Amino acid sequence: MNDLVADYVIIGAGSAGCVIANRLSADPAIKVVLLEAGGPDSNPWIHIPVGYFRTMHNPAVDWCYKTEPDPGLNGRSLAWPRGKVLGGSSSINGLLYVRGQPQDYDGWRQQGNTGWGWDDVKPLFLRAERQERGASADHGGDGPLSVSDPRLSRPICDAWVAAAQAAGYPFNPDFNGPQQEGVGYFQLTARNGLRCSAAVAYLNPVKGRQNLQIIPRAHVQRLDMEGRRVTGVIYRDTSGTERRVAARAEVILCAGAIGSPQLLMLSGVGEAEHLQAMGLPVVADLPGVGRNLQDHLQARLVFGTHGPTLNDEARSPLRKVAMALQYALTRRGPMAMAASLAAGFLRTAPHLETPDIQFHIQPWSADSPGEGVHPFSAFTASVCQLRPESRGDIRLRTPNADVHPVIRPNYLATTTDQRTLVAGIRIAREIAGFAPLQGKISEELRPGPKAGDDAALLNWARATATTIYHPVGTCKMGTGPDSVVDHRLRVHGVAGLRVADCSIMPDIVSGNTNAPAIMIGEKLSQMVHEDRKAGMTR
Ligand SMILES: Cc1cc2nc3c(=O)[nH]c(=O)nc-3n(C[C@H](O)[C@H](O)[C@H](O)COP(=O)(O)OP(=O)(O)OC[C@H]3O[C@@H](n4cnc5c(N)ncnc54)[C@H](O)[C@@H]3O)c2cc1C
Repeated sequence: MNDLVADYVIIGAGSAGCVIANRLSADPAIKVVLLEAGGPDSNPWIHIPVGYFRTMHNPAVDWCYKTEPDPGLNGRSLAWPRGKVLGGSSSINGLLYVRGQPQDYDGWRQQGNTGWGWDDVKPLFLRAERQERGASADHGGDGPLSVSDPRLSRPICDAWVAAAQAAGYPFNPDFNGPQQEGVGYFQLTARNGLRCSAAVAYLNPVKGRQNLQIIPRAHVQRLDMEGRRVTGVIYRDTSGTERRVAARAEVILCAGAIGSPQLLMLSGVGEAEHLQAMGLPVVADLPGVGRNLQDHLQARLVFGTHGPTLNDEARSPLRKVAMALQYALTRRGPMAMAASLAAGFLRTAPHLETPDIQFHIQPWSADSPGEGVHPFSAFTASVCQLRPESRGDIRLRTPNADVHPVIRPNYLATTTDQRTLVAGIRIAREIAGFAPLQGKISEELRPGPKAGDDAALLNWARATATTIYHPVGTCKMGTGPDSVVDHRLRVHGVAGLRVADCSIMPDIVSGNTNAPAIMIGEKLSQMVHEDRKAGMTR
């Protein structure tokens, strides 16, 4: 018995899911239902950029996942926030707009994924984008997603950018322009000083469409199957009642790098042995489901400063009132701040073709973002390796959709990953030794001068490094036995089902993952429209 019938049922209103809901329902002949486990994005802190520090770890809008104790991090387990709200992780993320490197996408294509090379996907980034600086060969001017320059500056970040140039790294005015390499300032997914989430960009303008039904607080439990064909979706509403939505054409799974493999496994799609151990029937034996997990791991160097930083501003009640006033009147200042202000994409060795590390420079410091700033004057130079080789996995803990799965990131498992992170820490130190930054730094607080050799630096990273919130890869796109979806994002061996979110990335992109997730949503939408035109149904 169906509660609803649609042509396309989309699971998850995150970065990719919102795009797909918009683009498919643009055809009035297509009926779309969008199911989201979280609620509406009514918490005001979602929309104020600095509210990132308040929404993260808040179970009202964050799934609050935790990883298993990780051998590469001295047995530490990490908090892994993921958005549980309309807009998904784009509603709680750090707002940084970065696409990655052309070579990332060319690498996907080289693995057999026709249609995913840079020349194929660049127009989709442009279609999505509304660039504040105007349209150009590298930027879109009239898409739904607003991209803008930061609305504050802080001398310590300017000093970092100047010192990096003094150290020989070039200034780059646009990390999404002709080349990624260099130092400069991030652009933000923001509009007039307010967050531009995927829900703001793609859902709000089309909420009134008759053929689009958005159902928040709908926790999908499993896919409904007839043999190896998906025919609908079973979700639980707020009263705890199970409901079914029938899909006349396809179900599109956009539950993210953790939710998508979890739902596939709960529906009998995954490694047969694991499903049997969970007491689940095996619909399709796809060993790649939940494997190939990748993330960016950040080592956070903290430097004490002679002058005040945002740590001091945030502790002063008077300054806080001034910040609130400034934001209320101008939508500028620290409340309009994204997770980081300055950035660097650098190479740890001259033989590398493209940058292999990324810096996030923050005019404040904390043990971990979202945990409150330090009670002293300091700033953070966070460094992460862009293309880690280490691979982790996600497994069901129980066959119950309410129980978080087992997440094993397996950080720093290869020598390349260890070496690259240590080299990144050394570059952070090198830059700190150049004027004008050197004169502003009182001391290196973390890791501190005692950590001298590579082994000590690696040990420090293992003891303190944390996620930069970019899990991907757990429903890998490809042709091999470890892949889950093909190049048109159709699940191997299962009819009527596609996956479109960060989980399909074969290899993590060299940068932050929100813009790529939105591009993946654009690409899926384009392919569905093409297939409908060609009369191809599955
Ligand atoms: C704290 C944080 C900071 C970040 N900072 C940045 C940044 O500054 N820049 C950047 O580019 N990237 C950043 N990222 C990463 C980026 O936001 C994500 O990679 C991207 O949003 C993921 O998009 P997605 O579509 O794959 O999944 P998501 O956006 O996570 O969407 C998945 C959706 O599916 C829903 N869902 C899951 N399971 C179910 C279910 N069973 N039933 C119904 N619905 C379900 C979820 O609630 C969610 O809404 C950050 C992420 C976080 C969490």
